[in-house]
Amino acid sequence: MTRTGAAHQPIVIAGAGIGGLAAALALRQQGHEIVLMDKANALSEVGAGLQLSPNACSVLDRLGVLEALRPHVYAPDYLRIWSGKSGRQLGRVRFGDFLRQRHGFPFWVIHRADLQRVLLEQVEQTPGIAVRLATEVLDLEPTPYDHLSCVYRNNETTGNLSCRALVGADGVWSRSRRLVPGHENAVFSGQVAYRATIPLEAAPERWRKDSGLWMHRDSHLVHYPVRGGRELNIVALAAEAWQDETWSTKTDTKSVLHVFRDWPAEVRTLLAQPDGWLKWALCSVDASGPWSHGHVTLMGDAAHAMLPYMAQGAAMAIEDAAVLGKHLPPDVTNIPAALRAFERERKSRVRHIQGIASRNAKVFHFSGVMALARDTVLNLSSPETLTARFDDVYGWTAGNGNR
Ligand SMILES: Cc1cc2nc3c(=O)[nH]c(=O)nc-3n(C[C@H](O)[C@H](O)[C@H](O)COP(=O)(O)OP(=O)(O)OC[C@H]3O[C@@H](n4cnc5c(N)ncnc54)[C@H](O)[C@@H]3O)c2cc1C
Repeated sequence: MTRTGAAHQPIVIAGAGIGGLAAALALRQQGHEIVLMDKANALSEVGAGLQLSPNACSVLDRLGVLEALRPHVYAPDYLRIWSGKSGRQLGRVRFGDFLRQRHGFPFWVIHRADLQRVLLEQVEQTPGIAVRLATEVLDLEPTPYDHLSCVYRNNETTGNLSCRALVGADGVWSRSRRLVPGHENAVFSGQVAYRATIPLEAAPERWRKDSGLWMHRDSHLVHYPVRGGRELNIVALAAEAWQDETWSTKTDTKSVLHVFRDWPAEVRTLLAQPDGWLKWALCSVDASGPWSHGHVTLMGDAAHAMLPYMAQGAAMAIEDAAVLGKHLPPDVTNIPAALRAFERERKSRVRHIQGIASRNAKVFHFSGVMALARDTVLNLSSPETLTARFDDVYGWTAGNGNR
């Protein structure tokens, strides 16, 4: 269905998270009017670290925010991989200048709140994008007047807004997903992530500079500096049957130490430092299902939330934004066809990354002979060889897809 009389209507984006903000900028660059709605009263500081690999940075550069991000990021030279059993270093993956020269863009780590704030500032400075907080997108309805109506709730009041299309960027527990028949809901992985940040100087010397990945049976730990290198982000993941649809469940240090009770003393000393931890149930959404239906499309976690074992969740949402913009040029008339083309282009890429994350989930948590084989390969591989294994992930660029 083509709604020719609707060209002057805005595109509504549900969710001002990382994907929604990036999509607002990408679609505005194509000349569309944008209304960005988020159900949160304020875009809060909840959360911890995210990885911005060169593929994500290529999009952020196009959106004009790369330089504004620089004071908030940290650029690790290496990912150091450690045994969570013996405390020994097993291998190194080379990042830093090596990765920048290889793919043209930096490899950064950042606090999610800093990334969201910089994107929001750019959105607020961009005429043609209106942000409405405390506004939950409920539905998209046809009207007799050749346009669509987005139904939303603001406080206790329900309202309608005429629009051309709805982009569901409303995260892993998306409500927009219900507007795309056949799309599956998020599935709990049986894994839980504990997250905290501490002042960098409180961490042992060997934890301060690079990114770290510690692997042990059924659990692993990731850490890297954020906030421009002032704080250390710590994420500890373990199998646990606990589920809740929130990013902000608080838990105490005692519970974290209990889960990691057979880890080396050095790690447990560090885990004992934060005053409090946030606990998240890790969920994923199978990317193979449909993402778009008529004038609605899903993107980011709403379409394809993934387990954080390749640390590409935010990067995939950012890539989605660039590709969505590409398929909705200023003169687009057949929006459903454009949204289907967006979905087609993105699906194979996202499924590929989800596959890597699923494989890593097994490899990180190996024990016994399998762990020994893994550790031997890491020991024998040069840092550059280990980096090159991810060329297809990091070598994607906003203009060319995979080079
Ligand atoms: C508060 C918060 C903290 C997070 N912290 C981390 C972290 O520290 N590390 C990490 O790896 N990942 C974190 N994530 C997830 C990470 O941001 C995403 O996995 C990734 O960036 C993909 O982003 P997204 O835009 O698809 O979804 P998200 O970034 O999750 O954004 C979704 C947005 O949609 C809004 N929303 C939901 N339903 C509706 C609705 N019906 N109408 C309007 N708005 C709606 C939410 O309020 C949210 O702002 C966090 C997400 C949130 C929401």
